[in-house]
Formats: sequence, structure tokens, C-alpha cells
Amino acid sequence: MSEERPDPSEFGSDDDAPPVDEKPYKIIFEGNKCFGAGKCAEASSNWELDLDTGIAQPRSYYIDESELDENVEAAEKCPAKKDRGIIHVIDRRKDVEIAPDPHGDGTLSVDW
Ligand code: SF4
Repeated sequence: MSEERPDPSEFGSDDDAPPVDEKPYKIIFEGNKCFGAGKCAEASSNWELDLDTGIAQPRSYYIDESELDENVEAAEKCPAKKDRGIIHVIDRRKDVEIAPDPHGDGTLSVDW
């Protein structure tokens, strides 16, 4: 096993994933680090707080062009992980992390 990070487009994908042409973007969510600040839900209708757990969850993990901007905003506003954010928006075609992209190079910033 190498120590290399998985490719963003592969991580978290499942057999039910819609075609890339339909939903070119994917959300990876580190939900175990969410503390319910709710900035994501303010930024995007794709995010809601579960009333029982107080933790956010996305309505959909796969999104299209029209939903991209608001999800990027949610990713950038999320204050978890010392402001680095726990919502990751992945471009499935280019295989890069669009947001929050703290490394500035498109690599996945999920903490394993
Ligand atoms: S902004 Fe981040 S920490 Fe706050 S509810 Fe959304 S995902 Fe959780």
C-alpha cells in the first residue's frame, strides 16, 4: 500500500453514482467533524441541519453546474477544522478539489 492520497474523483464514489456528464461535481463530506455552525445551510439549499443530531448533511452528493457556485460557497464558509472546512467539492472530470482547496493545487484536503 502506498501512502499516496486517493484521486479526488475516486474517493467516496459508489456504484450508484450518476454519470459524470449529468452531475460533473461531487461532494465529499467529513461529517464527523461538523459542529453544526450552519454556515453551509445559509450558503446553499443543498445543505441542511439534521434537527436530531444538529449536524449538517447534503441533500445530494452529486451536483450539476447550476448547483456548483452555492456548494463552493458552502465549502468556503464552513468554519470546521480551523476554518479549512469539511465540505469538499470535487470536479469529477478534472479530478481536482475545487473548494476549499487549502493546498491551492486541487489535491483532496480530507483528513484521513
Ligand atoms: S458549515 Fe461546516 S461545521 Fe457548520 S454545519 Fe455546515 S458542515 Fe457543519
